[in-house]
Order: sequence, then C-alpha cells, then structure tokens
Amino acid sequence: MMDQWKKRTRAVHSGIRRSQYNEVSEAIFLTQGFVYDTAEAAEARFVECGPDEFIYARYGNPTTSMFESRMAALEGAEDAFATASGMAAVSGALMSMLRAGDHVVSSRALFGSCLYILEEVLRRYGVEVTFVDGADLDQWRAAVRPGTKAVFFESVSNPTLEVIDVRGVAEIAHAVGALVVADNVFATPVFSRAVELGADVVVYSTTKHVDGQGRALGGIVLGTKQFVRKTLEPYMKHTGGAMSPFTSWIMLKGLETMDLRVRAQASTALALAQALEGHPQLSRVIYPGLGSHPQHALAMEQTGSGGTVLSFDIGSREAAFAFLNALEIIVISNNLGDAKSIATHPASTTHQRLPAEQKVALGITPGLIRLSCGIEDTDDLIADVMGALDAAQASRSTRDAAE
Ligand SMILES: *Cc1c(COP(=O)(O)O)cnc(C)c1O
Repeated sequence: MMDQWKKRTRAVHSGIRRSQYNEVSEAIFLTQGFVYDTAEAAEARFVECGPDEFIYARYGNPTTSMFESRMAALEGAEDAFATASGMAAVSGALMSMLRAGDHVVSSRALFGSCLYILEEVLRRYGVEVTFVDGADLDQWRAAVRPGTKAVFFESVSNPTLEVIDVRGVAEIAHAVGALVVADNVFATPVFSRAVELGADVVVYSTTKHVDGQGRALGGIVLGTKQFVRKTLEPYMKHTGGAMSPFTSWIMLKGLETMDLRVRAQASTALALAQALEGHPQLSRVIYPGLGSHPQHALAMEQTGSGGTVLSFDIGSREAAFAFLNALEIIVISNNLGDAKSIATHPASTTHQRLPAEQKVALGITPGLIRLSCGIEDTDDLIADVMGALDAAQASRSTRDAAE
C-alpha cells in the first residue's frame, strides 16, 4: 500500500519508527551509542547489523534512519545516507566512488564549493576532470570515454538556472558505464524525477528546501542499496560526515510541510518572473518557468515547474546594490529555498572568488540578482520588488544628475 502513496503522503508518513510509547511526532534519539543485552549480541551486531539495529551514531541512528527512509521513499530511490551538510553529501558521493586514474566529466556551471571538490580535491588525488557546457549534449558526448567513471552536474544551475537534460546526459554516460551523479537542489525533492530520468546518485543540500526554515545544515545522498551500503556507507562512516540526530529530526519535521512550502514558493516565483519580464530596468529575467527560457520545454517535461528561484539583471553593480538596499521584506542573504524570501548578489558574494572571465562565461554579470522566493504573500513580494526597482532607478537618476 505504501508503494501507492503519492509524494505528499510519503513526506508525512514514510519511514516512521515509533518507540514503545507510540508517540505521534518522530522521537529524537539523541544518543551516540546503543546497549547490547549480552557480549554475544554485541559481537553478532558487528558481524551483521540488521535494518532496525544500530551500533554508533556515526554509522546510523534511529532518527537519522527515519529521515533517510523518508527521503528515499520521496525520491523513489532504494536507499539513502544523510550527511552533515550538502557539501559532505557531494564530496562523499564522489570521493567514495572514485580513485586515482579515474576520469570524471562535469558541467561547468557549478556552485563554488562543488567546483572546489572537482577542480581541487579530485585532481589532487589523481582524478582527471573534464568540464563541459552542461546544456550542450554534444559536449558531453565528446568528453566521455571508456575510463569515465562518473558524470556530475547541477540539474538546474546556480545562479543562472541552466537546465540539464538529465535523460540525455544519462544515456551518454551509461553508454560508457559511467555513473550519473545529480546535485538536485534547485529541482527540489518535490518536483524531482531524477531517478526515473536516469540519475544513479541524487544529492541534496537539505539546508535548502527540506529544512526550508533556515535552522540547520544538512545533506543526503540517494541511490541503489548496492551503492549506498557498499560504496558510500563505508566511506561516510569512517570519515565522519554523518548527520546529527537532532538535525535529522529538524529535517523530518521540515519534510512534513515541504510540499506546501515549495509549491507556494514556485507559484510566487512564476508570478514574480511574469511581473518582471520586459521591465524596462532589467536586461534579462531568467526563470525556467517562462516561455522565454531557452530550456523551458525541457524544464516543464523534467520537473513540471520552474522552481522557487529566479534571477534577473539590473544592469550594474551600483543598481544591484541600490535595489538590495531598498528591499523591505526580502532579506539580503545567501541561502535559498527558505520560507523567507532572500535576495543575493552572486558576483560579490557566493561567486566572488571566481576570476572575472569565468564570471562572464557563466553569465554572472555585475547586475545579476538571484531571488529565492519564500512563502510570504505574493502581492507583497511583487510590491517589494517593484518598490526597490523604483528606488534603484531614483538613485541612478540622482547619481546621473550629480555627474
Ligand atoms: C547549497 C548548495 C550546496 C551545498 O550545501 P550545504 O548544505 O551548504 O553544504 C551544494 N550544491 C548546491 C546546488 C547548493 O545550492
């Protein structure tokens, strides 16, 4: 019967483990270890640890296990391992499956820390990495070869919202026996169909939409039982990137409301993108849910939504700063997927360290603003953005007059 449940039901009920008290809300097992009835029982558990048995919280914990089972049920993956942050998930997924001499192909448009793992860490350990323009299937085709062990991409890139053809890349990767690793944050677990489209390993920073309320860092790696238990788990449990039980509880409670939050956020993002498209102060409005987005049809086919984030270009760094400083509801920060709407200036913050020519290549222009839509009233948010655009225009006129 559980197999028939829709995502919203799974997000509330899947994976629950009740204690002897039959509590309604999931219990937090804030324990690092577990007691064995006998020495023989301890020995047996170290020989083989059953699905409802635990040894040490770095390996697994009942609260964390509930979160892992629930995420696996939501994503349609066989198994999952929860990690201390999204980056622990990205690095764990890649480091556990690769060794010196392997080859990896990756999309170029990546979150800065993901780029660091691929460019710095993997290369330091003798893994060869080829970067491609992720939206161009011909480049993936030309880059893979028989020794390619994995391909990596953000299914929707940050902050320019380029959409990767997951099925297309998976076909190319699988033809040479490479595993497909998808960083799926922008797609969100609500709209994701990554496993069905051919991703072998799906990674989330649960700091984003899963918590969705700015409280805790977390991550998760999802995949087959074979990959999660035989490849990933030994690496994670010995290198210490496990999610804490308290964080797992926060994430479980986040999952209960995630569908409602994310759908409200995506509907606001679409309304805002439509309101902003063609605005005289903006040179471009990027949102996969708009017909003008180059991969609009692909985004709709893959996820059925444009997501919760939009980006737009207000022309210059001065205008971008004036816009941000005039916002009244939307806060200036660098998280995304939060219940609170958040505006970011990628060029001076999240992507500050990138060399200028790389910023240009990735479309991170001086006037680019990334806007993560929260769950506030849509009309209030549109009014806030329009008011801040007016203020940016007024400050520009003042500056022009002074010059
Ligand atoms: C935020 C983010 C990460 C890193 O997650 P943390 O939880 O901050 O470690 C990785 N990939 C993408 C696409 C992200 O947005």
